Amino acid sequence: MPDVTHENIADIFGSKVFNSGVMRKRLPKHIYASLLKTIKEDLPLEKNVAEVVANAMKDWALELGATHFTHWFQPMTGITAEKHDAFINPTEDGKVIMEFSGKELVKGEPDASSFPSGGLRATFEARGYTAWDPTSYAFIKGSTLCIPTVFCSYSGEILDKKTPLLRSMKVLDTHAVRILKLFGKDDVKKVTTTIGAEQEYFLIERDMFKERKDLILTGRTLFGAKPPKGQEMETHYFGRIRGRVAAYMADLDKELWRLGIASKTSHNEVAPSQHEMAPIFTNTNTATDHNQLVMEFMQRVAYRHDLACLLHEKPFDFVNGSGKHNNFSMSTNTGENLLEPGDDPVNNKQFLLFLCACVEAVNKYSELLRITVASAGNDHRLGANEAPPAIVSIFLGEQLTAALKSIETGKPVKEAKDLVLEMGVSTLPKLIMDATDRNRTSPFAFTGNKFEFRMLGSNQSIAGPNITLNTIVADVLGNYADVLEKADDFDTALDALLQKSVTENKRIVFNGNNYSEEWVEEAARRGLPNLRTTPEALAEYTSDKNVKLFARHNIYTPAELDSRYEIHLDEYSKTINIEALTMLNIAKREISPAVVTYTKEVCDTLLAKKSCGDFIDVSAESTLAERLSQLSGKFIRSIDELEKILAGAQDTASAQAEATYYCDQVIPAMEELRKFADELESLVGKKYWPYPNYEDILFYI
Ligand code: ADP
Ligand code: MG
Repeated sequence: MPDVTHENIADIFGSKVFNSGVMRKRLPKHIYASLLKTIKEDLPLEKNVAEVVANAMKDWALELGATHFTHWFQPMTGITAEKHDAFINPTEDGKVIMEFSGKELVKGEPDASSFPSGGLRATFEARGYTAWDPTSYAFIKGSTLCIPTVFCSYSGEILDKKTPLLRSMKVLDTHAVRILKLFGKDDVKKVTTTIGAEQEYFLIERDMFKERKDLILTGRTLFGAKPPKGQEMETHYFGRIRGRVAAYMADLDKELWRLGIASKTSHNEVAPSQHEMAPIFTNTNTATDHNQLVMEFMQRVAYRHDLACLLHEKPFDFVNGSGKHNNFSMSTNTGENLLEPGDDPVNNKQFLLFLCACVEAVNKYSELLRITVASAGNDHRLGANEAPPAIVSIFLGEQLTAALKSIETGKPVKEAKDLVLEMGVSTLPKLIMDATDRNRTSPFAFTGNKFEFRMLGSNQSIAGPNITLNTIVADVLGNYADVLEKADDFDTALDALLQKSVTENKRIVFNGNNYSEEWVEEAARRGLPNLRTTPEALAEYTSDKNVKLFARHNIYTPAELDSRYEIHLDEYSKTINIEALTMLNIAKREISPAVVTYTKEVCDTLLAKKSCGDFIDVSAESTLAERLSQLSGKFIRSIDELEKILAGAQDTASAQAEATYYCDQVIPAMEELRKFADELESLVGKKYWPYPNYEDILFYI
């Protein structure tokens, strides 16, 4: 594989992907045409196609050095799964030939018993199926041909994140096309949702990572005293990218470009050692697969550079954590972005309809959107003045808010003139100002021609949020289409419909500071839900409204939704349990011995000095010894307390009660233990401390 240079970047891009260009070259014309129809028009795959495609795929993969293939799928763990099979097939003469059949391409039968199923499957009911998703291109990773697949159980229940995502995209397509027909756009055959997922991450020295059991086992630091310097100087955001990080980013880009992932923007983020990558948007299915690969390659490439990439939502206290911005829009097969306001948004009825549909969807199902970003890791960020609060609201900006007001009241909006930014220097170009300023604090912000859902955690799959987003917007569009298709006069009916929608859903629009205390109060007055923690949010998951929504659109059966509820609760409880156990382990086996050794050193010095005679001042040693022993007493008692409380989790009556117990009882006990450990860290000599501290880690590379 040649190296990437500016001369060959266009050739290298997608060179490890069995994309439409490769297909066109390597497949017979009619097979290529048939596969393209499947991909572009969602038609079922014709029988003979798979066999021919499999063979072409295999030849292509072998030429690029592949020896194995795998069905690559996305179980409910939130990450990807793969089981490698070599292409080899034995021959009679004791040799092998390289083979790959249509059947192997289309269907796999992995053991499904060890993946989360939320009670849908018992361990003995092991059989599961994977099935080829021809709408996401196959690619080569290492020496393995990866075939994106969906994953379900023997009895057909879905066990993955891709199947419901594809279903939700289809539902949105159906209803958006119905709407566009009403606007006379008969040439629109398909509407696809598009996503650009900005990904934040931390990069730290690998040697330091290896010294921290908490980072290795839980992805975040469970201890760590506040460093003298954090992010208060505001020098890191968009700061100069230092050499080692730049080399890492360049290497990451090359890997991603080969996989056809259009990594576009890289920069330093707010916290020290924190960075971000944004790709160019693509359809939601591909964007979801790509984001999984982005997270995987961020970690792989870091390893190669003796670095560790941390994707946890809150690796360090005292500085910002990491999130993911899910930029969402809808686009037609004729190339129209349905959230593009155009020159005259106020009179662009089609745009206003799609905008109102999003507003209504988010207002009606704000709990559900909140649930899709609920996790133990993300609980550290939401509402902590570094990411949006747990209250879902929409930022539209002045111009669109005025447009909605005009729809509601029927009074026209004042003409907005282009505002020119005057820089006071005649040689500088005049800048036309955007209609609205940015609002970084909003959970769901309109940003020109798309919505940016900003509550996602850095570590999570974007599938969940987009399944919900697609389904709720589709639901509203479907309702609109039902009304408008029956209308005698389309324009009058449309005006009435939009007016009703704006009036009923305007409470969700908030253009102010989402971090402020006043907003929490105002949101409560507006009746907007504020689901602060994961257990609180998950408790709403299987509400009647949500069960009906997903069943109505055939996304999840009630049993499938229930299973997801169970899986998320279980994941939450297990995460906190592992964190608590890791804390206890580090406290007892690393911190305690360090404190004992250092205290002995102080006491030995005290005794030695004392033995020299009364004329020597021992106040420093005695004060230190006193503080150390007082603190370590409290520390040991908080270890006992956490152990006792943790044991109590066994006695909870249900998965929901268990998660709530971890949240309300175990987390505060963990915080108490950390407090004493961190105080000890700032008192004990550095060379005695068992692991690198925050300033070592955050300011090293
Ligand atoms: P910022 O969040 O800093 O304003 P950008 O405006 O550069 O960033 O865009 C952020 C992300 O939004 C990028 O990944 C970009 O590709 C994506 N994006 C742009 N247009 C669309 C669209 N129509 N649909 C989905 N994502 C989009
Ligand atoms: Mg953004």
